Amino acid sequence: MKLQLIYFVFFLAIFSQRVFSQDQDNTFIPDEKYVKEVKKLLKKKKIQDAFEYIDILEPRTLKDLVYLTEIPAPPFEEEKRAEAFRDLLDEAGADKVWIDEVGNVIAVRKAAKRDSERPAVVVLDAHLDTVFPEGTDVTIKFNGDTLIAPGIGDDTRGLVLILTVLRALNESGIATVADIWIVGTVGEEGLGDLRGVKHLFRPGAPAIRSWISVDGGSTDRITNSGLGSHRYRVTFTGEGGHSWGAFGMANPIHALGRAINIFVTEADGFIQSGPKTSYNVGRIGGGISVNSISFESWMEVDMRSVEHSSLLAMDDIFQKAMQAALQKENDLRKNGEALNVKIEMIGDRPSGEVPVDIPLIQRALAVATLFNISPRLTTGSTNSNIPISRGIPAVTISRGGKGGGSHALKEWWLNDSSGPQAIKLALLLLVTEAGMK
Ligand SMILES: [Zn+2]
Repeated sequence: MKLQLIYFVFFLAIFSQRVFSQDQDNTFIPDEKYVKEVKKLLKKKKIQDAFEYIDILEPRTLKDLVYLTEIPAPPFEEEKRAEAFRDLLDEAGADKVWIDEVGNVIAVRKAAKRDSERPAVVVLDAHLDTVFPEGTDVTIKFNGDTLIAPGIGDDTRGLVLILTVLRALNESGIATVADIWIVGTVGEEGLGDLRGVKHLFRPGAPAIRSWISVDGGSTDRITNSGLGSHRYRVTFTGEGGHSWGAFGMANPIHALGRAINIFVTEADGFIQSGPKTSYNVGRIGGGISVNSISFESWMEVDMRSVEHSSLLAMDDIFQKAMQAALQKENDLRKNGEALNVKIEMIGDRPSGEVPVDIPLIQRALAVATLFNISPRLTTGSTNSNIPISRGIPAVTISRGGKGGGSHALKEWWLNDSSGPQAIKLALLLLVTEAGMK
């Protein structure tokens, strides 16, 4: 009996160990067909020349990073950085560069010869905007080799990476079958609500058939799944009045508290099962003094899910909770007018997932594997959400180097061997996807 128990504990230990390590790794092995395809490209002299050039360019890449980081790019105010980035892409030898109607910088590197088998346009993108408001000190501070400045990694390093890819493509004379667009997008962060990438996929826009974003730190992460989110600003309004003299009026702040309570209670019941879904009331406000019935109260709400249908279900719970709270507060009213509620959508990022077996994801896995990286497939909230939600192949890959403190004033970035490696990886994936002539 005792021996049996020991065996049981032993097997339990092995079993739980296995489950644990599988969960931790989430690694994927690419199909041999794609490994061969990438290997073949790796042997080409022009690819090797491009890699060598990326190493030679390292001081220049660092100089570009310092230069661009110190040009502020607050939300909705990316113009200055966009102009500087446009000039750099022009100097790097793009065939054509322009800033579009919403502020995206687009550099075209024309195909040598189009081929019906390959997509017409392959995009390599990074975002121009940072989360930091106007007036933030963006001067870089050096701590040894570590560079400290807001926005340095997210995503200024991404911009510099895609710029160096263009320089290396031109220097080595690599010719592709598809047009390559090197794009600096506006509005990736926060209330920017992906407006840059949404514009690139507007009705009637040139057909982008493949999208590669550079955004995020860890080299082994390949993001093929987009985390969707809905964001709202809710405002309750009423007459307002004296807390004693007008007592009995409907109170917008009481309605807000009730709304949060109903929403959170219902939402928490919903997330007990099913795909990962979140809810958050991020900011609240309203009122003018302790002895006044306020005429207004407001809150900002964020909800996310990896699954579109769960996001819609959470949205439904939210909408119903707001109406229920309004109703209850109005029912309590002893005098005065009824309250109103205004619900404005301030953010909409669709969710979705690109199947693992499509060529772009297989190529991303194959390239990583050939760089001795064990790739993990992950979920993120990046520019890729838009093409992913429309069924267009899209992936988000790493900017390389070490970094941390993203969205904080003390954000830092440090170059190491994964820095130039990430640039080579992006170039190789881009050329594989665009087809080398
Ligand atoms: Zn970012």
